[in-house]
Parts: sequence; structure tokens; C-alpha cells
Amino acid sequence: MFPAFTALSLASLFKEAYNIQQGGGTSGKLLFWGLIYLAAYVLNNFLIFITGLVIELGADKRQVHYRYLMCVKLAHMPLIDFEDARIRDMQQRAEECLYSGRMNGIIRDSFGMVIISLLNIITVSAVMARYSLWFLPLCIVSVLPYSVARLIRGREFYYIKRKMAKKSRRLGYLWGLFTDRRTVKELRALGADDYAFGKWTQCRDEVQDELWEQNRKDAVSLLFCDALRIIGYGACIALALVLTLNGTVDVGVFGACIAAFLTLQSATRGILVLGGELPKELAFSGDYFDYIDLPEETSGSGTHYAGLRDKIELRGVSFKYPNAEKYAVKNVALEIRRGEKIAILGENGSGKTTLSKLILGLYPCSGGSVFYDDETVGNLDRQSFYKTVSAVAQNFTQYKLTLRENIAMSDIDKLGDDEKITDALRRAGLEDLLVRAGLDSELGTAFGGSEVSGGQWQKIAIARGLFRDSELIVMDEPTSALDPLIETEILTKFIELAKDKTAVIISHRVGLCCLVDKIAVMKDGEIAEIGTHDGLLAQGGEYARLFTAQEKWYREE
Ligand code: ADP
Repeated sequence: MFPAFTALSLASLFKEAYNIQQGGGTSGKLLFWGLIYLAAYVLNNFLIFITGLVIELGADKRQVHYRYLMCVKLAHMPLIDFEDARIRDMQQRAEECLYSGRMNGIIRDSFGMVIISLLNIITVSAVMARYSLWFLPLCIVSVLPYSVARLIRGREFYYIKRKMAKKSRRLGYLWGLFTDRRTVKELRALGADDYAFGKWTQCRDEVQDELWEQNRKDAVSLLFCDALRIIGYGACIALALVLTLNGTVDVGVFGACIAAFLTLQSATRGILVLGGELPKELAFSGDYFDYIDLPEETSGSGTHYAGLRDKIELRGVSFKYPNAEKYAVKNVALEIRRGEKIAILGENGSGKTTLSKLILGLYPCSGGSVFYDDETVGNLDRQSFYKTVSAVAQNFTQYKLTLRENIAMSDIDKLGDDEKITDALRRAGLEDLLVRAGLDSELGTAFGGSEVSGGQWQKIAIARGLFRDSELIVMDEPTSALDPLIETEILTKFIELAKDKTAVIISHRVGLCCLVDKIAVMKDGEIAEIGTHDGLLAQGGEYARLFTAQEKWYREE
């Protein structure tokens, strides 16, 4: 009711001032209406402030909730989705929607501003209609184009942003090249930092150019809308003047009408703009919910997995990455007996890593199945299954956390088990780091922790893999960056430590092959040969070729 009350008190104030000028009014009355107007004005604004604050806080709470849902989603997404560019684009759009505060905006605008503006419109219209009904259509016509312009431009903007999701992702990636400590050093050393910067600039310009063009069109539409709004305001003044001159309203109402018209025009414009933008905002929110509604990883049969009894068996396993043209793994048949140590050998790109992910059930097979005894891996209950496996990845994470956390991350319930952690460190040959840094000092210099060498990080990753009481361990070349002789030394130790486990070790080097029970050689996604070191050498095939090519790496100088 405040806007109407403000308009009425303002009319009385003007009228009293006019009366005084004509020699009729009293300064007491003038002061009274002045104070009433001031009180109404201040209180109105105070209430708007409080309402805004309450709505903002409510919307902020929702925002935190939407962010939480996104984290839950990321935790439950099938891992293969992270390899799918289309789903990464969807994630980018969902994140943009979340971080641009759009979801907040919709709640705030729909529930808050629309109600406030509607109340303004109803009460002020009721007051103005007393003087002339013409004010209302005048007001609506003068601001109607805002709605149409927002509707058209909003849709265009949405489709531009949608189309640009991939480019925005690339822009973020290129930016990451300058902000990541490791890449920055590499680029500097390569002398390619200017080139990379140029690529970022080019990508940024492409993104900006499209947005600028859209903003330019938007500005032109707005200019037209503003011009019409001002013409409407001029017409309102003319109408109020006519009403005053023909005696329909007094001079006080003349001033109040103009002030009230501005309030009415601004509230109507607010609602029309919101209405026009709503389809765009809903489309953006749709992106968020499309992502949230993506199917999640299923948790298998739900039957507790009690561990491997006999063997893991791959029967005609094939796999193709999303949107890829050729199969990364083709028709693979392989048996891994309980307690066996098997090396999967092959040149880069032959499909080893992909195969290890299929064995662990991290990716679903495109053809064939991976069996753990009689059950396919997809059918195993996820939680109990993953408790029995451990994996050391090629691009493992260097956690900038304490040494204790770095090891116990694979079995976080044992974070306080100093004896077990120390034992894992000793077994991985990390006594020196333990003595120098201690269990509770942070690793890495990012936050002022201890300096750790590349080789030590690799040993930490292996210690982490072994720390977990798993029955199956899959190790994907975490040592590939090391010298072949040092790698063999570490892997020998690893095989010794994993003597009670089933172990799958992936490598492109032959160094460890004399130590394992079985070697599977991969070529172009297929298993080219399977056998023991001696058997395969005698066969004179792909393994013998790799062995001969690499033999010199293992000769001590
Ligand atoms: P390896 O571990 O033997 O080096 P990978 O299993 O990593 O081989 O890759 C096997 C094949 O799959 C290669 O041709 C590689 O280009 C392809 N590939 C790997 N990752 C992806 C991916 N995310 N999307 C599409 N193709 C991929």
C-alpha cells in the first residue's frame, strides 16, 4: 500500500504548498504532510530493503543446495561420461547457469520482485484511475516493447551461449595452461608461452565477438524501448497538464500524478522485462536440470561381493569411446587367475589403459563381458566390490595434503593407524621422506609444505595403492616417467609386496616381464599374444620384437 500512500500524501503536500502560496494554507499542515510523506517514503524503502534481504538469503540457501546437488551428481556419474564431449558441454552449461546466479535470479525475481511490482502497480493504478483512466494504457503502451525485446534477444542470447559451451570450455582450458604450475614451467621452457597466450587471446576474442554482437543488438533494442518510455512520460505530463488546466485535478494532484506515473511505469517495465526474460532464464535453468537428470551409475545387483574365488575372465570384450570412430579394445579374451601377476604390455595407444578400466568395471563394455567368477563386473555390488580392489593410475593425483593423508586416502578409515602407514612407507622405500617430513607435514610447496621429488610422488602413489587391503591391484604405469632400470627396481619391489594379491601391471616396457606369471601383449586394441617371458621370446612374435628393441635399456653400463 505504500506507493499509493506516498502518492496521496505527496498530492496533499503539493496542494498545501499551493494553498500557502495562494494565502489559504497553514505551515503546520504543510509540515504534517511533509512528515507523513517522508515517513511513508522512508518506511517503504526500508521494507523493500528487508524484503530483498530475506528473499536474497532464501535464494542464497537454494544456491548452496543446487551446488550440493551438482557435487552429488559428479560423484555418481558413470566415469565414461567424463570422456564424452557432449556431456562435458552439458556440465559446462550447468555450471555456467549455477555460477552466474541465474537460478537465484529466477527465485528472487519470480517470488520477490514480481510480487512487489504487482502490488505497486495495483495500488498506484487505483490512485491514478481516480483522476484519469488514460494514464494506465499510456503507461502500458510506453513500456510494452521491453517485453518483446527481452523475449527475442533472450532467446538469441541463450542459443549463442549454448552454442558457445565448447568454446567456453576451451577458453577455460587454455587459461588453465597459464595458471597451472607445471604447464607454465613447461611452456616457458619450450618458449611457447607467447604462442599459447596467442591461442587464448584468439579464443577469447571469438567468444567476445559473438557476445559483443549480441550486446550491440541488445543496446539498439533498449535504445528504442527507452525512447518510447520517455515519449510515454512526456505524454503523461501533457495529460496531467490538460487535466489541471481544465480543472479536473488541482495543482497538487498534477505533481503527484507525474511522480506516481514514474512509479507505475517503472513497476510495469520491471514486470514486462521479467516476463520477457523468463523463457531465457528457464532455458538456462533447464540446462542445469538436464545435467542433474542424467542417468547415474547403477550399483550392480546389490548382493554383497565376497571376493574372488577363482578367476577374472574377459570374454570377447570390446570398447569404443563415446563419439570415437574406432574401437579402443577389440574382442579381447583373457583369464586372470586368483593370485596371478599379469603384465599387459604394448606400445602407446594399444589399448592397455582402456582394458584396465574395463577389468575394473569403470567403463561399461561395448561388447562382451568381464566376469568375476560367475558374475559380470557390472552386476557386482559397487561398494563391496571396490573395497576389494585398488588402482594406481598413470596420472595419479599428488594430494597437497599431509603424508599421512596421501597414504591413507585409499583406506581413509585407517587414517589414524600410524603403524600401518609407516609400514607402507617403509615398504615403498620412503623412509627418507618419513624421517625428513614426518607423517603430519604437508607435502608439496603449494601451501608451504615439504618439497617432494617426482620419483617420491610415484612411490607415494604405489604405497597408497598397497596400503589398501585389496585382493586385486591394478597398476597403470605410474613409474613410466622413471629411468627403465629404476622402474624395474620399483616394480620388482611392488611384485614382492603384492605377493598375496592378484596384480595387473600395465606397461609399455618389457622390464618387469620376467617377474610376472603371464604377459598379454596388446596391439591395436587386440591381444596379439599371451604367454610367459620365455615362451613368447621363443615364439619370436610381437613380444620378441619389443624385447629386442628395448633390451639395451636394461643393460647396466
Ligand atoms: P594405452 O594405454 O595402450 O596407451 P589407451 O587405452 O590409452 O592406450 O588408448 C587406446 C586407444 O583409445 C587410443 O587409440 C586412444 O587414442 C583412444 N582413446 C583413449 N582415450 C580416449 C578418449 N577419452 N576418447 C577417445 N579415444 C580415446
